[in-house]
Amino acid sequence: DLTGEPEGILYRADQGYGLGAEGTSRINATLLSLVRNEEIDGIVQAMQDLERTWNSKFNYPWTFFNDVPFTEEFKKRTQAETKAECRYELIPKEHWDIPTWIDEEIFQESARILQENQIQYGAMKSYHQMCRWNSGLFYKHPALEHIQFYWRVEPKVHFFCDVDYDVFRYMGDHNKTYGFTINLYDAPESIPTLWPETVKFLAAHPEYVHDNNAMNWLTDKERRLDHYQKANGYSTCHFWSNFEIADMSVWRSQAYEDYFNHLDRAGGFFYERWGDAPVHSIALGLFEDASKIHWFRDIGYQHIPYFNCPNSPKCRGCVAGRFTDGEAWLMKEDCRPNWFKYVGMG
Ligand code: GDP
Ligand code: MN
Repeated sequence: DLTGEPEGILYRADQGYGLGAEGTSRINATLLSLVRNEEIDGIVQAMQDLERTWNSKFNYPWTFFNDVPFTEEFKKRTQAETKAECRYELIPKEHWDIPTWIDEEIFQESARILQENQIQYGAMKSYHQMCRWNSGLFYKHPALEHIQFYWRVEPKVHFFCDVDYDVFRYMGDHNKTYGFTINLYDAPESIPTLWPETVKFLAAHPEYVHDNNAMNWLTDKERRLDHYQKANGYSTCHFWSNFEIADMSVWRSQAYEDYFNHLDRAGGFFYERWGDAPVHSIALGLFEDASKIHWFRDIGYQHIPYFNCPNSPKCRGCVAGRFTDGEAWLMKEDCRPNWFKYVGMG
């Protein structure tokens, strides 16, 4: 059953749970968005959806990040969409700049090959920088130093369902560290050496692998052998990270720090087009207790061209159970069945 509400939703705003007198029972969390000034219309629309369906009941702060300063117009129009505090943060140069060990000529040549292989954004420098920042740097920003949970939001995404409980509190109370809505296959051409580098890392650090890992989800070859082969041993299944509700302690762990540094040095954020989604997902599948990963089946969500759309009277604007409104071949990009097969519905 890919639709419907989670069993035993305990925390409802209308019962007062999570809504202290002065909002004092909010937990240590923020909505988080990396966004460009030019994307103001898209982020305002996404904010309207999330404020209407959820945040107006809880008033978690929004933290916006940008590699250039936000304009006054951006600040004014976003703050106007919420009663909660909005914070506007500049990314430090040393978190955004291409690392010194990346060779510009190799990068240019790789970008050309990626483009030939029709890898979207392969030749767009800032896209590589964005993927690297989302993989291993965002949670190191001083503005997040004392914050534990975040909910990542991108411009133009949609939220369809009223959610009446505090999802951050749900995460904490149920010992969850990572929440997702959509699980997908990736383009293997964007990550040919990500798995081989991971295997090298594991050879040096077998102690980081969790007993209750999701290795068999990461290495499934039954459903799409072509992906498994082109990605050199990785199914390419990943949590679609434009939506993430997560505990930054995972990324702040020694295992993830060492893993990210290994990948960063290997160069694939630039010489290939490693996304933060497969990087986060592989780390979670190896180093995290799989029972701490939660599918938010009740959060109706769309990032073009995919949906998570529950069958519930609380949802408006999406078709229950529909995965995509794009071309038919996109149907086979859904990797949720694998997650349920190997790990369960938890
Ligand atoms: P896609 O979802 O893979 O198509 O990539 P997007 O274009 O949506 O980018 C992912 C996220 O990063 C979105 O929240 C963008 O607003 C943000 N983003 C991408 N590139 C940049 C950039 O150069 N600067 C800033 N400030 N945000 C960016
Ligand atoms: Mn996007």
